[in-house]
Amino acid sequence: MKINTNKLLMLPGPTIVPPEVLNAMSFPVIGHRSKEFSELFEDTVEKLKKVFITENDTFIITGSGTSAMDMAISNIVSKGDKVLNIITGNFGERFSKIVEAYKGESIKYEVEWGDMADPKRVKELLEENEEIKAVTVVHNETSTGAKNLIEEIGKVVKDFNTLYIVDTVSSLGGDYVNVDKFNIDICVTGSQKCLAAPPGLAGITVSEKAWEVIEKNDKVGFYLDLKTYKKYYEEKRQNPYTPAVNLIYALNVALDLILEEGIENRVKRHERLARATQEAIMAMGLELFAKEKARSITVTSIKYPEGIDDKLREILNKKYNIVVAGGQKHLSGKIFRIGHMGVCGEKEILATISCLELALKELGFEIKESGVERALEVLGK
Ligand code: PLP
Repeated sequence: MKINTNKLLMLPGPTIVPPEVLNAMSFPVIGHRSKEFSELFEDTVEKLKKVFITENDTFIITGSGTSAMDMAISNIVSKGDKVLNIITGNFGERFSKIVEAYKGESIKYEVEWGDMADPKRVKELLEENEEIKAVTVVHNETSTGAKNLIEEIGKVVKDFNTLYIVDTVSSLGGDYVNVDKFNIDICVTGSQKCLAAPPGLAGITVSEKAWEVIEKNDKVGFYLDLKTYKKYYEEKRQNPYTPAVNLIYALNVALDLILEEGIENRVKRHERLARATQEAIMAMGLELFAKEKARSITVTSIKYPEGIDDKLREILNKKYNIVVAGGQKHLSGKIFRIGHMGVCGEKEILATISCLELALKELGFEIKESGVERALEVLGK
């Protein structure tokens, strides 16, 4: 099979994986019940805890981000349990679907896509509805390019007898997440976005308060039963089922790179690249999809101008080898999304903006001002 190895991946996941992380996958396969594996696994979990900024129990599971979302809900929710799902896009909606799949009752707080949830409304909904077992929110709604105020929502949720579940799949390692400070009871993430590791692993943190609920919950499911993961980790520093050993090597190196850069520096880099991208897009005369106050620093969503559609992405991909994402659900054909997360840097942003300018011209779009010049200005500051 022929693979084009010359693609610049500007997706909001999976993202560019640095060579040292890819190379780590070629380390020898080792037995997952061996002492070496336990050491590797514990080391990786400890590093992930530092990135989550938590003392809570943390697990690495074989599966994509959705498996950790599923794990969060299936260990908490039994038939008839109420969960408040904050929905600001496709992934917020996914949490509510998972709740319903486990026969829970999803109370939906729906926000217009492209905007963020209002923490005051979360408070009202918690006051209006009794016995809400958990609140879910997506930090960075990858489908819209808008983020939620997870720290502020955490302050609201703390005053209620409910669990706070946060999806940081496209923010951990890019935007600022602090599990302990934000009172997050269960936090989930995926390997293939801001962590800049290959797809296939997910992370989840579990607070003491969450364990109390999990212990009492009717057992639902088998593979993702958190109690089994806890038992194996405590006793052996292992997972109950065969893990993706070589992906753990890769994640370990990817986490080293994050800790070496430092979380604050990493967030600042993401902020700077987001500003350069977003200002360049606006200078060209294109419109951003997410509301200004809610704009993500890891992904930018852009409205297609009149008469332009996914043909733009096709030109970027086929002619310039730059891969950007389209819209999801009702936004398909209406927006496109540029990921600037993980190890993405100035050169990737400048290449993307330059080729976007060329592709737009090819499609007859009249560029207002040079996006490249604008990006250079922002990055040169
Ligand atoms: N949550 C968010 C915010 C995401 O962006 C994604 C994937 O794009 C997911 C959850 C689901 O992750 P996965 O596709 O790895 O299952």
